[in-house]
Parts: sequence; structure tokens; C-alpha cells
Amino acid sequence: MKNFTTRSLNIPFPKKDPHNALTMPIYESVAFEFNSAEDIAANFRGELPAHTYSRTSNPTVEYFETKVKTLTGAHQVLAVTSGMAAISATMLAICKQGDNIISGKNLFGHTVALFEQSLSAYGVETRFVDTTKPELIEPLIDKNTRAIYFETVTNPQLEISDISRIAEIANKHGILLIVDSTITPPSVFNSKSLGVHVEVMSTTKFISGGATSFGGLIIDNGLYDWSKNPNCLKFSEKFGKDAFIARLRKNYYRNMGMPMTAHTANYMIVGLDILELRVERCYQNCLKLGEYFLQNPKVTRVDYPGLKSSEYYDLAVKQFSGVPGSVMTFDLESQEECFRFMNRLKIIRRATNLNDNKSLIIHPYSTIYAEFPESERQKMGIRSGMMRLSVGIEGTEDLIEDIEQALGVNQS
Ligand SMILES: *Cc1c(COP(=O)(O)O)cnc(C)c1O
Repeated sequence: MKNFTTRSLNIPFPKKDPHNALTMPIYESVAFEFNSAEDIAANFRGELPAHTYSRTSNPTVEYFETKVKTLTGAHQVLAVTSGMAAISATMLAICKQGDNIISGKNLFGHTVALFEQSLSAYGVETRFVDTTKPELIEPLIDKNTRAIYFETVTNPQLEISDISRIAEIANKHGILLIVDSTITPPSVFNSKSLGVHVEVMSTTKFISGGATSFGGLIIDNGLYDWSKNPNCLKFSEKFGKDAFIARLRKNYYRNMGMPMTAHTANYMIVGLDILELRVERCYQNCLKLGEYFLQNPKVTRVDYPGLKSSEYYDLAVKQFSGVPGSVMTFDLESQEECFRFMNRLKIIRRATNLNDNKSLIIHPYSTIYAEFPESERQKMGIRSGMMRLSVGIEGTEDLIEDIEQALGVNQS
């Protein structure tokens, strides 16, 4: 089986279902019973693996993790409450006071807030850098650097960094390479094949099947020697290759309370089965909208790395099978033009999420980046005439018709 969807549909349950259910049941139970006092004691000694309490593990969530592990070829996978939980737990597990990480400078806004406000309060420093220029990374590494972190496609700039080149730098220094792959889901991106040690993502976006629920994934590709990180050393001595997910599951998932629920895992399981179909449809829509925008004189600029006109096209082909997600941006003359356009839309919705089944539009300059001074916005490439479009699965003709009437192409 080569095809992503065929494989996703045929991943066996970790345990045979007593009723031969074809769909993994939703085990919405807090606790699980043992046959004897001896068994429960053995379980607590770590000698009898079984589910005990759903804040530690749950059968439905385990099946979602198994599916992701099988589909990606990862070593181990942990599913958590949200994308932010995936990123924060990962950072807390690998850093302590006095440590630092090197991060791409253009990130999801709440990740910036996590690094600048929350992690800094624990004495962990973030050194921001333009990772599209890998030569800038090495001079920032010192003996307390624990990881390099960036997003596979930045939002809304839509920049792409050269992952294998950055993996070489991380390996040379024995530090971890972590990428946030939210924009490029596992049907188009395999982080292991490019040397990424740990992949984190928000499954709230593509994998949930269309904005159904919050979730996050932490994927350990099994490529990193955990004894090289002083904060994982103890777990490495006890758990070897399993050190990272073992530490995450105990010290963060369990102790800080980050479990994905069984109901959410059910959405994610269904979402994975239809992921490839949805991503392909969104991508085809992006290409056709891109072509439309390129030939429309009212549109002054179009960015989508799946278009040959993009400076990141070659990297998108190399790293994401040419399908760099379905977020695109396009520019009109001014903010006023953007607002007028957005207010006329009938099918495309004004909202801030990504990878819903519905197409969503936002004007980043006046919303997500409104708090930033003009000079900062310029540095981050946030233009007042730019709109971000998360392209959904509607019919292409309907989307183009909506855009055309909102641009006023057919009006005098
Ligand atoms: C949405 C998003 C997150 C955060 O995910 P949540 O599930 O909303 O917590 C992290 N990174 C990227 C790139 C995102 O788009």
C-alpha cells in the first residue's frame, strides 16, 4: 500500500474490537478496571501495559497516535489538547532555566507570545533569526542551545526554509531540530525523510477534518540521541530511544494535564482518513485562484509557493511534493480596497482560522498584527493591502465568481 488514504483506512486497531466494529469506538471513560490487585500493582510498576486513567492514555487517542505513527514512519507520537500544548510541552521537556532555543523570526502569533512571554518567565531565551538564510543560524548557537525551531511555511509571509540544510547544522552541534508543520500536513510532508528530529503541529487545522475540534501532535522521528540533551538524560538512561515521549507523557501530558479527549481523537481519526482528498481539492483551488489573481489587473501581488512564480516553488516541490498547504495571500491597492472587497464576499467567510472546509479570509495588517508598530509590520512583510486567504473545498467556479463580484469586475 503506497497511497496515504488507503494506508490510513487500513491501520489495524491496537486491540481487536469485541464486536468487530469497523470504526474505532469512542472510549469516553476516565478510568479502566483491572482483574486483580496483583495486575493493577504490576501496571503501576510498569510491567503490565494497559490503560488506567485517560489523563495518561486512552484507547481512542492511542489509535489516533498509532495511525499517525504508521502513516509518517515516526518512532513515537503523542496527541495533546492543542497545537499550543504540543509546542509548549516540547519546549518545557527540552529546556530549563539558562537554556536557549533558536527560532525562525516569522511564527504563528501565539507561538511568539509563548516564547517571548511564557518561556522567558522560566528563564529560557529565544534567539530569533531568518531561517530562510541558514548561514545566520550557526553564529547564534552556544553550549546552552537546545534546539532550532521554525515553521515549514510561515504565515502569512509564506516563506520556506531549506529543512535538510538546517538539519545538517543541528546534527553538527548535537542539538534538536523541531519544525511546526501545521500548514503542510502529513499527506504532503514527511519530516523524517528530511532529517527533522521532532515535528509538532496543530491538528485543529487540516487534520481535524475542517475546524471540528482542538488538537496537537508531537512526533518523535527517532533520529535524535536523547542523551545529548541534559534535560532528557535521566529518561534516556531509563527509556533509551523512547526517552522523549516517555518524559512528555509523564512530566507534561499527565502532570500538567494535556490529554486529547476520546471524542476529539474520533474527529482526528476521521479527519486523517479524508485528509489527502481535502488537501488535494484545496491545492487545486489554490492553483486556479492563483492563476486568476495573476491575470487580474486589480490584484497587485499574489503569493502561493505552489505557483511557479513563487521564489519558494523549488523548495515547495522538494519538501512538500509541490503542495505547500492551502494558505495564499494577495494584494489590492490599499486597505480601503481590501475592506470593500471583503465586505462584498458572499461565499468566502471573514474569519481567522486556517484549513477549515470553508474558505476564510482576513486582513492581517488591521487584525492579527494591529498591535505592532508600522516599522515592525514592514519588517515582518505585513502590507496594508494584503489579504490572507485560507482556501477551502468549495467548487472553484463558485469561489472565482464570488471573488469576481467582490472585486467589482463586472460592475461599471
Ligand atoms: C494554529 C497554529 C498553532 C496553534 O494551534 P492551536 O491548535 O490553535 O493551539 C500553532 N502553529 C501554527 C503554525 C498554527 O497555524
